[in-house]
Amino acid sequence: MNPFRKLGRQVERFKSNAEEAAGERPRYQCTECEARFDEAHPRCPECDAANVVSIDDKAES
Ligand SMILES: [Zn+2]
Repeated sequence: MNPFRKLGRQVERFKSNAEEAAGERPRYQCTECEARFDEAHPRCPECDAANVVSIDDKAES
């Protein structure tokens, strides 16, 4: 039982939420779990699916 491991995961999640709130614009998204990233990943760090695609911002005006 290691309480620090659980805390670390919560901090990681908080950090990614904070980055979104700070106005980061993720340009890649996993089509499996819909997690968003600001850099390309060969595999989704969240669910390990090889379905990370670039998001087209053209819809944004
Ligand atoms: Zn995913």
